[in-house]
Amino acid sequence: MATGKINVSVENIFPLIKKFLYSDHEIFLRELISNATDATLKLKHLTAIGEAKVEYGNPIIELRVDKKGKKIHITDQGIGMTEEEVKKYINEVAFSGAEEFLGKYKDAEKDAGIIGHFGLGFYSSFMVADKVEIITKSYKDESAVHWTCDGSPEFNLKKGKREARGTEIILHIAEDSTEFLEDNRISELLRKYNKFMPIPIKFGTRTETLPKPEDAKEEDPAPTEEVDNIVNNPNPAWTKQPTDLEDKDYKDFYRELYPMQFEEPLFHIHLNVDYPFNLTGILYFPKLTNDLNIQKDRIQLYQNQVFVTDNVEGIVPEFLTMLRGVIDSPDIPLNVSRSYLQADGAVKKISSYITRKVADKLNSLFKNDREEFEKKWNDIKIVIEYGMLSEDKFFEKAEKFALYPTVDNNYYTFEELQEKVKANQTDKDEKLILLYASNLEEQHSYIEAAKAKGYEVLLLDSPIISHLMQKLETSKEKLSFARVDADHLDNLIKKEDTQISKLSDEEKEKLKTNLEEVLEDKKYTVQLEAMDSDASPFIITEPEFMRRMKEMQQTGGGGMFGMGNMPEMYNLIVNTNHELVGEILNTKTAKKRERLINQSIDLARLSKGLLKGEELTNFIKRSYEMVK
Ligand code: ADP
Repeated sequence: MATGKINVSVENIFPLIKKFLYSDHEIFLRELISNATDATLKLKHLTAIGEAKVEYGNPIIELRVDKKGKKIHITDQGIGMTEEEVKKYINEVAFSGAEEFLGKYKDAEKDAGIIGHFGLGFYSSFMVADKVEIITKSYKDESAVHWTCDGSPEFNLKKGKREARGTEIILHIAEDSTEFLEDNRISELLRKYNKFMPIPIKFGTRTETLPKPEDAKEEDPAPTEEVDNIVNNPNPAWTKQPTDLEDKDYKDFYRELYPMQFEEPLFHIHLNVDYPFNLTGILYFPKLTNDLNIQKDRIQLYQNQVFVTDNVEGIVPEFLTMLRGVIDSPDIPLNVSRSYLQADGAVKKISSYITRKVADKLNSLFKNDREEFEKKWNDIKIVIEYGMLSEDKFFEKAEKFALYPTVDNNYYTFEELQEKVKANQTDKDEKLILLYASNLEEQHSYIEAAKAKGYEVLLLDSPIISHLMQKLETSKEKLSFARVDADHLDNLIKKEDTQISKLSDEEKEKLKTNLEEVLEDKKYTVQLEAMDSDASPFIITEPEFMRRMKEMQQTGGGGMFGMGNMPEMYNLIVNTNHELVGEILNTKTAKKRERLINQSIDLARLSKGLLKGEELTNFIKRSYEMVK
């Protein structure tokens, strides 16, 4: 029997440990199970290389909660420790580790997140226990050792009673931590942190129903058996080779990761590198909606199969945080602050590796089965568009597979699109004009008008598309995007041959006055244009620039400051070559003229979806009057 004093420079390290990371007390279990796992894996290694002459067998880690005795037991069948090793590893190494950890990170408590995820080790047990015992027997087959410590720097070391090789840790749970004596709470922690740890973890038993024997009668109950309740899957899919897995295995694993997700993932990417850093994992593309805020099942980060966090911000490029799955890497420094993490060289390499893998996968999906890829486009475009916006490397790679769908469901790459439309949609200044709609229903009449001219109309409707158009316009030469309702078509794509107006300047002046009298305080700017006589007589348009700036500001960043709150701006385009316009001009009675103008403008507003409420009611009334 020996007692001793742990060599501490800070006498009060235990209260500090207890206080530190108050909300993270639960990590004690992960730390202790990690130690048990390490001890087991070390034995596996030593037996494999012939250093340890013992049978490795099928070791498990067992967790027992003794609610009455207020104790938690964690037992492993690993290498164990000799007396010397307990003195060295527990009294010195573990302690100095804990002390160093605290010294370093005490001040960084504010930097919530990754700090504190790792590093506290064995001593984190004092966050929940007021007394800890270790009963351990080394594989070297000496006698067992029993170490006790009540949280003060004094410890007690004596011969222990233990037959089997391995270590048992007994935590005497403190009054303020009795929540950890509840089976449910422990199960929850095991699910969160230990679901994929490499050594089987037993927590209690469960009843398994066995097949009925041949001669059993109909009414006989099926026999049952009590079996170990193993809470983890020690061989999760990401630790296997891609060649050993089938599509079904990936889908099953997705289900295992996200039991509440009923929708299947669209596809997966298996990550697997060992140089210049170690990283494995599987990423899944889920079906994403256009609502950027509700994508909530997140990528999980592991270190050697131990769960660390599901906040991978800083490790994975932001646009990929919309994906799901697992990343496992021992090379990510976790006991540092986020800002340090983002500046870390290894992390940067990891981040660009992941980006490259995702781009390569998308490219091969596109090349190998374009039809399938097109079908999935609407569910994945948000990630790709976001990636193109935020990562220049990805932007370059995405050139090959980013698609631009048309209102008629054709999907073009940018290059194909350019080829397809350049003859008809290059304006007189050699600029390529890409027409698009954001809503098939709302912009129907404008789309039809553009199609009638043989123009190709894209359907671009994701929430960040205005930012991407902006980026494409600046990175490519002589290119402009214009929504079909941004102006009338002759203005959107200006060609050499200008239309001649049927009206004289005098008549135009008169028409403008007539219109402005009726419009008065309405917010339209009147624009007289000589167009085809069969184009619409009145069209309401919404200039591209202002509208796009407003949209960009609404979806964050970009855009011009202060434009988000500007009122909408509309132009009223009047086709001076249309018969109806001529008729308005020639109408003698003011009353009739006013009615014609009102009715026409309301029709233009109707086709832009602007006629609502009382104005719509009045329009309907007036129309019934006219059809009578
Ligand atoms: P770390 O695991 O980071 O080294 P810990 O404080 O958790 O730090 O543990 C200190 C040391 O104590 C370990 O490195 C290991 O040598 C020893 N140890 C802890 N738990 C066990 C265990 N269950 N079996 C054998 N050795 C252990």
